[in-house]
Amino acid sequence: MNAWEEVQGVEHGSGVRASSQNARTYFQGVRIDNVSAQQALHVVETHLANHDRRNALRVFFPNVHSIHLARQDKEFLSCINEADLLLPDGSGLMIAGKILGRPIVENLNGTDFIPKVLQRAEERGWSVYLFGALPHIIEECRNRIQAAHPRLKIVGHHQGHIPEGEDSSIIADINEKAPNIILVALGSPLQEKWVARNAAKMNAGVCFAVGGLFDFLAGKYRRAPVWMRRIGAEFIYRFVQDPRSKWRRLLIEQPLFLMLVFGERFIPRRARSFSNRSTKGN
Ligand code: UDP
Repeated sequence: MNAWEEVQGVEHGSGVRASSQNARTYFQGVRIDNVSAQQALHVVETHLANHDRRNALRVFFPNVHSIHLARQDKEFLSCINEADLLLPDGSGLMIAGKILGRPIVENLNGTDFIPKVLQRAEERGWSVYLFGALPHIIEECRNRIQAAHPRLKIVGHHQGHIPEGEDSSIIADINEKAPNIILVALGSPLQEKWVARNAAKMNAGVCFAVGGLFDFLAGKYRRAPVWMRRIGAEFIYRFVQDPRSKWRRLLIEQPLFLMLVFGERFIPRRARSFSNRSTKGN
């Protein structure tokens, strides 16, 4: 059964959380659900039609950066891998998929995918809550989303720079508003950990971890030109706009990720596990 048939299977009661199981693949230990945007939207829609409200669906967008963090933080790794839907974000994963002979169906970065969700939310009457980013960014982002989608029900928002562990007042606000969709924009690994910790406490439908999306929607950063996105070079454009916080991703994380991919492709498994053992022994 292919991924599309499986997502179709959701409608026949096979369970939304298992819907993309056969399309699952792993990159350096991080699970990816290799589905199209249409299939992912179908999973969201089906969950919202059937879900029990006390267990929000957790949807993350793993990319080279979060995979890098997960290699060093086992708690973060399991928090990603236990999510309900993991959509592949970025050209790094597309390249890795090609090299490893497991091609990625579609690059589903949040910046392209979430506007589709918001469009669908406006059409279906799903309510939305926005959580994350700096106070003036979230205000601006809310205004711009509302201007682009006049009929969308944005039921609440909260800025994201809060003291660590102070979840309860936000959860209380979310539960009072009972949104169908929550967008959490705290950056990785904070946002995935926040969602993993709180999903079962929330009176909500689907919870997306969306990274720097609000900064883009509010106009703080610009998207790369379409030609650059098409050739998979958007991360370079992002680096140029914010070199202080993104240099590590471009100069360390991307090359290291690709080196490990090449290693997986061209170095036999036994040689790799031997070299890991001897590195650990040093
Ligand atoms: N952020 C936040 N609370 C924090 C740390 C970060 O709300 O404690 C926000 C920050 O203001 C920015 C976003 O999280 O809007 C992080 O964006 P980044 O580009 O780093 O995320 P990425 O997409 O790379 O994971």
